[in-house]
Amino acid sequence: MPLPGPASVPRPAWHTLPVDTIATALVTSAAAGLAPDEARTRLARDGPNSLPEGRRRPALRILLAQFTDVMVLVLAGAAVLAGLIGEPQDTIAIAAILVLNAVLGFAQEHRAERALEALRALAVAPVRVRRGGSTHIVPATDLVPGDLVLLEAGNLVPADLRLTEAVHLRIEEAALTGEATPVEKAVPALPDAAAPLGDRRNLAFRGTAVVHGRGAGLVVATGAGTELGRIAALLAQETGVRTPLQLRLTRLGQRLAAAALAICVLVLLLGLLRGEAPLPMLLTAVSLAVAAIPEALPAVVTVALALGARRMIRAHALVRHLPAVETLGSVTVICSDKTGTLTENRMEVERCWVDDAHSTGAPAVPGEGAWPALLEVLALCHDVHLAESGTMVGDPLEVALLELVRQAGGDPAAMARARPRLAELPFTSERARMTTLHESGTGLVACTKGSPERVLSGCTSRWRAGAAAPLEAGEVLQQAAAMAATGLRVIAVAMRRFAEPPAHVLLDRLETGQTFLGLVGLLDPPRAEAAAAVATCRTAGITVVMITGDHPVTARSIGARLGILEPGGEVCTGAELAALPPEELGRRVATVRVYARVEPEQKIAIVRALQARGECVAMTGDGINDAPALRRADIGVAMGRGGTDVAREAAHLVLLDDNFATIVGAVREGRRIYDNIRKFVRYAVTCNAAEVWTLLLAPLVGLPIPLLPIHLLWINLVTDGLPGLALAAEPAEPDIVRRPPRPPAESIFAHGLWQHVVWVGLLMAGVTVATQAWAWHHGAAHWQTMTFTVLALSQMGHVLAIRSERESLARLGLASNRPLLGAVLLTVTLQLATIYHPGAAAIFRTQPLDAGELVLCLLLSAVVCVAVEGEKWLVRRGRLYRGPPAPAT
Ligand code: ADP
Ligand code: MG
Repeated sequence: MPLPGPASVPRPAWHTLPVDTIATALVTSAAAGLAPDEARTRLARDGPNSLPEGRRRPALRILLAQFTDVMVLVLAGAAVLAGLIGEPQDTIAIAAILVLNAVLGFAQEHRAERALEALRALAVAPVRVRRGGSTHIVPATDLVPGDLVLLEAGNLVPADLRLTEAVHLRIEEAALTGEATPVEKAVPALPDAAAPLGDRRNLAFRGTAVVHGRGAGLVVATGAGTELGRIAALLAQETGVRTPLQLRLTRLGQRLAAAALAICVLVLLLGLLRGEAPLPMLLTAVSLAVAAIPEALPAVVTVALALGARRMIRAHALVRHLPAVETLGSVTVICSDKTGTLTENRMEVERCWVDDAHSTGAPAVPGEGAWPALLEVLALCHDVHLAESGTMVGDPLEVALLELVRQAGGDPAAMARARPRLAELPFTSERARMTTLHESGTGLVACTKGSPERVLSGCTSRWRAGAAAPLEAGEVLQQAAAMAATGLRVIAVAMRRFAEPPAHVLLDRLETGQTFLGLVGLLDPPRAEAAAAVATCRTAGITVVMITGDHPVTARSIGARLGILEPGGEVCTGAELAALPPEELGRRVATVRVYARVEPEQKIAIVRALQARGECVAMTGDGINDAPALRRADIGVAMGRGGTDVAREAAHLVLLDDNFATIVGAVREGRRIYDNIRKFVRYAVTCNAAEVWTLLLAPLVGLPIPLLPIHLLWINLVTDGLPGLALAAEPAEPDIVRRPPRPPAESIFAHGLWQHVVWVGLLMAGVTVATQAWAWHHGAAHWQTMTFTVLALSQMGHVLAIRSERESLARLGLASNRPLLGAVLLTVTLQLATIYHPGAAAIFRTQPLDAGELVLCLLLSAVVCVAVEGEKWLVRRGRLYRGPPAPAT
């Protein structure tokens, strides 16, 4: 009997073997699974159950990539040439700066890469396995051959399994075979060893989705050994996705680079015309190009997004696709589930309505009548796992119903043992009810619970005073609506007894001819933080829409309490929605804030209609059938605790705490990150422009080339370097949730950014050249040192001033971004060191400034900062750019 080998050898035809043979071959038990110790041993031996990663870039590769930039290579070449014919000292200094530059770039990218890896590690799904006879939850990566995995609807199959149990088990294998129709699975061995994957009905393959039923299976292959692992080589080649912003900034960078290059050529030509020595002039022009080309733009975006994603995890939002961080800032509509997201999902039975005698006061046990029957149905009709310790694991609604049984003196576990389950029609959101069939003395009993409308549609009578009586469906529905009006989730309960032999009881008869037993109203209070989060959305220009499968009256009550529904606002039901013609749908979605009794398929129609109106939609979902809507939404949001693997797989964002307020926090964070990227662009492009203008303007007004190549490289290093990076730590602007969402297609240069780049770039260059002119004409021997200092320190003043688009620096306070303050202080210190440290001064060819000159330089450097503060003052008064819009009051 061959054991599973490495991926290259043909694997055993597991599907042709009976379960016993496989259990023996894998040295495991098909009933109890592996012993926990044995699982640990095998994990150490066989390695984790993970697919080969999309090749990780080795650190060295990232480091080397920093040097492969064309302009850097040209500069290195020019520097070597200059060293050969001139002084080697310059070459060494330039080389040193290039190395520093590369190290800084490397540090950034490495940090981003590590943050992304941490995200991937968090995205590993938990799996239910049986080990040593009891159920454990383990990370999918810990599975080993021989493990017994439990599957239920909504799971993604975590490894290749030979099924040992299949109850209505249907698996969708499109990920592997491309076939979208789910395959009905079974346990018996199959004869054809060469059967195609899609026909191996007793196997479940990694990466496929359980859409129905439940089952169990022995792991026969993990990681790269799985069928998916075989094609994973193809998947792994998928390179990192680029976000729309990254693409836009890459294009922008290219255009800026072209412009910078053209100007550098101009500077070179002008210099040559004026009779400058060709080689130093070339070196100057190339250094200017290196300094002016904003090569860091796309990298900065990655760093900002990746670090933002890491910060979001701390706020319980797990980003599965990096571009989502960026899209979050543009969200205009959030469509949220009710149960569990807006409410606590901590169900508690509040009221029961059985027959006329017992309309309130649940736990009072009546004598003969519907009450014991109702308790029996609740004890039997559920999928809660009852542990020996008495704890119950499962749907909070079902747990609450079992709690009711216990309070009434029943023992659900004992009742379930006395009435073994024979068959079931599982709960789905579409069906809105659940039915189980049990042995009951000499006959059978079908137990049903679910939404009142659905359950009543299968009832023909009503239990009253110990006997079946005629059913007044209208009266019951009215009672249900009355209970729902107080925000209760209402469940109807019914049963049917069969006297005939089981073979005659067909599944499609279970939900017919039933007897209605009563209603149970459960309290599911809104989350404490949800109403505040809804209010935040309102000020932030984001519309909140609630979509629920629950009763319209319950939905109205909860919607009104959370402030989603205006008084008198309409609640649209799934049935109404289905009847609307498409044009009408577009109009309706514009005003409807609460949808009730909606089926998951209808969510996608709502998303589409909203998107057609130009909205950017975030949509939550937890079920299998929510996956298409999650994929279609601009931001698909799945639940980390409740909910299915399938929904999580389709989502862009996973809420680790299932909490609506977390989405709002993530939107806020998305806006902040976008703001900070904009700040970096504002800062870097303005400074680069200033450098270019300086070198162009000085010769035009008859001055010598103001700066040496080494000065340009230094300024580029210290400005684009630390202070630029520290902008990512900038806290959110005070108005961040008081302004409308950013249109996704809006240019990053909107709201006055390009005007800022032009005038501040010119101003900074003007101040620098004026400094040079003044010093040159007054015969100051230190003119170049002064010019160098003013340009470098002006940029520090600038970075402080642009921390906010509208608030004054005085109001922000220097300490509100300590990393930036530290970076600025460090840069100023280093700048002074290039002047006053004798060794550095020799390299930078600077001279120590006397006190008067230094004070003058500091004053001149403050001009830009003061001018930008003036710009912000005008913005605050609404005199400039008309945006970002003034906060709503
Ligand atoms: P929600 O949007 O509130 O999560 P669901 O789609 O989960 O709505 O549920 C829709 C309806 O189905 C509920 O109003 C309830 O009447 C019924 N229901 C919910 N859970 C169960 C269950 N476990 N068994 C039977 N019926 C259920
Ligand atoms: Mg639900």
